[in-house]
Amino acid sequence: MLSTPGLEAAAPRPDRVAYRKPQPWGMTPDLVIADACAADERLWVPVGPDTWSRPLHLNVTGGWYTHVLRVRRSGVLQRHRHTGQVHAFVIRGRWHYLEHDWFAEEGSYIFEPPGETHTLTVPDDCAEMITLFTVHGMLAYVDPDGNVTGYDDVFTRIEKYRAHFEAVGLGADHVRHFMR
Ligand code: FE
Repeated sequence: MLSTPGLEAAAPRPDRVAYRKPQPWGMTPDLVIADACAADERLWVPVGPDTWSRPLHLNVTGGWYTHVLRVRRSGVLQRHRHTGQVHAFVIRGRWHYLEHDWFAEEGSYIFEPPGETHTLTVPDDCAEMITLFTVHGMLAYVDPDGNVTGYDDVFTRIEKYRAHFEAVGLGADHVRHFMR
């Protein structure tokens, strides 16, 4: 093979050498979503009045999902009990739980322990809240006495996303892009 003098690849810097062995057999493919807060409105799935969910990662093996919740109304959204852990990061706006005295402010990280029941509320001075949530297990919707009125988990979410993506012309299988 001909080579042009002076154009040989420079030796990589020792602090920038990539891993050169194969990845493990059977490994799940990685997932990168550049526009987590999508500009394309078709990717925001209505899940309630003035409330949308933008799926990022729907993990059917582990039974959890990561999504961006966007709310453009104030007041009580819903009351729910968690069977699994929740991790949240507030991207825009603010919200709180009626059961706690703290507010989730822009830039806040929140851990919600399994077993916790709380009532998600957006204050009147917040026109839009956007929060990244990773939700493990089931979220059971309950009345103030804890009686279950419904639930969501990664599988009910997938059904809602499928129906929406089909309705907006992306096709129900668009949801597979987010599944691992
Ligand atoms: Fe919660």
